Amino acid sequence: TKQIVLASRPKGFPTLNNFRSETVDVAELKNGEVLLEGMYYSVDPYMRGRMNDAKSYSPPFNLNHPLNGGVIAKVLESKSDILKAGDIVLGMLPWKEKCTVSEKDLKKIDTSIAPASYYLGVLGMTGLTAYFGLLNICKPKKGETVVISGAAGAVGVVVGQMAKIQGCRVIGIAGSDEKTKLLKTEFGFDETINYKTTKDMSKTIGMLCPNGVDIYFDNVGGEISDAVIANINFNARIALCGQIALYNSTDTPMGPRLQPMLLTRSVLMQGFIVSNFKNEFSEGISHLANWVKDGKIKFTETIENGFDQLPKALLGLFKGENTGKMIVKA
Ligand code: NDP
Repeated sequence: TKQIVLASRPKGFPTLNNFRSETVDVAELKNGEVLLEGMYYSVDPYMRGRMNDAKSYSPPFNLNHPLNGGVIAKVLESKSDILKAGDIVLGMLPWKEKCTVSEKDLKKIDTSIAPASYYLGVLGMTGLTAYFGLLNICKPKKGETVVISGAAGAVGVVVGQMAKIQGCRVIGIAGSDEKTKLLKTEFGFDETINYKTTKDMSKTIGMLCPNGVDIYFDNVGGEISDAVIANINFNARIALCGQIALYNSTDTPMGPRLQPMLLTRSVLMQGFIVSNFKNEFSEGISHLANWVKDGKIKFTETIENGFDQLPKALLGLFKGENTGKMIVKA
């Protein structure tokens, strides 16, 4: 079977040379295990951090070993009492076309609710990130102004629609006119900003948010955040979800240091990792599933076809090649 390993650790922006494809044997199936064939592979921005040899909440990928991540797979053969051939499962699995895995590391998914790939997106890790980041940290109130960076990505589109459900005014920041148009027409955002073509971000945000920014859901960091924070309101909440603008930085970028504004305006800023909320995941998924079923939350995916496209798809996240969840279909 084919596998994709980490061939070298990137400095700055990763390249395809940091990955290598290999052919290996599939390990023999043991009792309590199933033989899986990957269907949908998730690529996620946090994987960039795992390519470094640095301690973090998620351990580094090992050199010359397969990368791993969220995968939806089909059971081909089973020596498990719980799972049978034909079942569709979700797990943190290696980047291999086929592999044998213990039943304990897999969760069967219900494809009658939504397409299987949604369990990597709106009904999976990124949906839960949106759910807990917005509801538990930002605590939106009706009529408040919510600004979202990385708004057209997997987390961002769900945050925006949830904020609309809570009765907020929602402004999304994204990197192309196609994306900003879609945010308005498909996902119900009130206003949008293309940060790549907007000259004065701070002024534009100020114009679109005449009452100030009550909630900032930050997926990006860097200069976009500087511009949002310059417009932050009294008693605002900021969820630090991601800092993708900085993941490939080789130095420590300096900003205008807006902490005095956070201080004088009594702003609450909190970082979080979605797994902080793992005891409440099933509650989150059931709410998200209901919203998806009722058509209150829509979702979109960018699907790259072919297992070999995994490295390219991962790199594409840092070039804005995806709208909604970036997924590789085997
Ligand atoms: P996305 O689907 O949003 O994909 C990444 C997007 O980021 C790209 O499409 C691109 O959109 C934007 N982007 C890339 N580089 C830059 C840059 N230099 N400046 C501004 N925007 C950039 O990914 P996710 O929805 O999966 O994740 C969004 C964020 O949330 C990430 O930072 C991720 O690390 C974080 N995250 C955090 C979790 C947690 O537990 N805290 C869990 C999951 C995700 P564009 O075209 O708009 O530039």
